[in-house]
Amino acid sequence: MCGTDGNNGVSANSVANGAFRPSNPYQPVGDFLSNVGRFKIIESTLREGEQFANAYFTTETKIEIAKKLDAFGVDYIELTSPAASEQSRLDCEAICKLGLKAKILTHVRCDMRDARMAVETGVDGLDVVIGTSSFLREHSHGKDMVYIKKTAIEVIEFVKSKGLEVRFSSEDSFRSDLVDLLSLYQAVDKVGVHRVGIADTVGCASPRQVYDLVRTLRGVVSCDIETHFHNDTGCSIANAYCALEAGATHIDTSVLGIGERNGITPLGGLMARMVVTSPEYVKSKYRLDMIKEIEDLVAEAVEVNTPFNNPITGFCAFTHKAGIHAKAILNNPSTYEILNPADFGLTRYVHFASRLTGWNAVKTRVAQLGLVMTDDQVKAVTAKIKALADVRPIAIDDADSIIRSFHMDLGDRAPVKQNRDAKQNGEAEQIKQEAKQNGERVPVEVEIGA
Ligand SMILES: [Zn+2]
Repeated sequence: MCGTDGNNGVSANSVANGAFRPSNPYQPVGDFLSNVGRFKIIESTLREGEQFANAYFTTETKIEIAKKLDAFGVDYIELTSPAASEQSRLDCEAICKLGLKAKILTHVRCDMRDARMAVETGVDGLDVVIGTSSFLREHSHGKDMVYIKKTAIEVIEFVKSKGLEVRFSSEDSFRSDLVDLLSLYQAVDKVGVHRVGIADTVGCASPRQVYDLVRTLRGVVSCDIETHFHNDTGCSIANAYCALEAGATHIDTSVLGIGERNGITPLGGLMARMVVTSPEYVKSKYRLDMIKEIEDLVAEAVEVNTPFNNPITGFCAFTHKAGIHAKAILNNPSTYEILNPADFGLTRYVHFASRLTGWNAVKTRVAQLGLVMTDDQVKAVTAKIKALADVRPIAIDDADSIIRSFHMDLGDRAPVKQNRDAKQNGEAEQIKQEAKQNGERVPVEVEIGA
């Protein structure tokens, strides 16, 4: 599919998923490789996530998670190997029977016995993996590169003969010998593997290393490139992003990033990154408003809390506190927000119960409470709130009480009062609904956020 923009003659390259990326003679080489506007997600909560220390998923929970991920729009759902246990095999079959839109994969060792069992479960494809670093070759499976290459080709040809998709990945790719790795990937590309995988199994890679390796690999194979990043050094989202910039096509994620040790690239965090880079692609493909319910479901299943600083859903992700920030946010949310909470079905909150508050935030709160004051009166009550907040931490109710009693004391000096009370008559909810209907960039959060 090719197209030409009639206005400026800029051509658009043919890309997967019907998305276009503009090109012109002055773009740097990197932009031609970049897939930031046309990537696919391989969601591995039900494989990598099952390796999380707290994870124990019943069949019902697995099905519930799979259905939600499917509704969200992930391209693939990866499941634990059926060779892991009898229940794992049964769960794999049960999820395959759901008839989801997402393709179902299972993750198996590069071993004919595992591959034979996996192809009988009804999956759409196999993610085949073997360790290639000298550490793993010496201390884990004990096989050399000649054996690995021979077995890989045998397994790939077998899976393809069954009409299924197959990915071949090394494990611990960033501590594997580059020449070994490239010649192995070249060999599996030649026999028609659908994807090769790069896995930062130990979480050691930096974004620049990722960019270099993926870009080098992009020049060696013609198949898709899947990437898998552990978060031991906090780089999992940045590494995924750099991999896409360098030409990777698929990113592995898990909900809340759960996985072995401290996990992998989180689905929500990756969405936060990518919606900033490629808003149209991300918003048209993924149900961003489902992130919170999916995270809540998984958090409950594995008995953890969503981290306070989690992208998008951390409790303070859209809370603005300092007076200067609050004033600007109330005028135009883009001043201090790169993400729009409305895109995720969420609302922002301007914190007004603190010593850092400013009168603009308090003015908004006064209006939410259905009260009317002049600016000078709002400034006076703001001074009272700040004075108390200097003495002790205050709650929203404390600040509201100060506002209400100040307003009552105004008596005749108060401007004409609107006969409504946000808390009592459900006004807050009504304003919230109106705000949602008005679409994005509604300047004032009305949720109390107790
Ligand atoms: Zn992993």
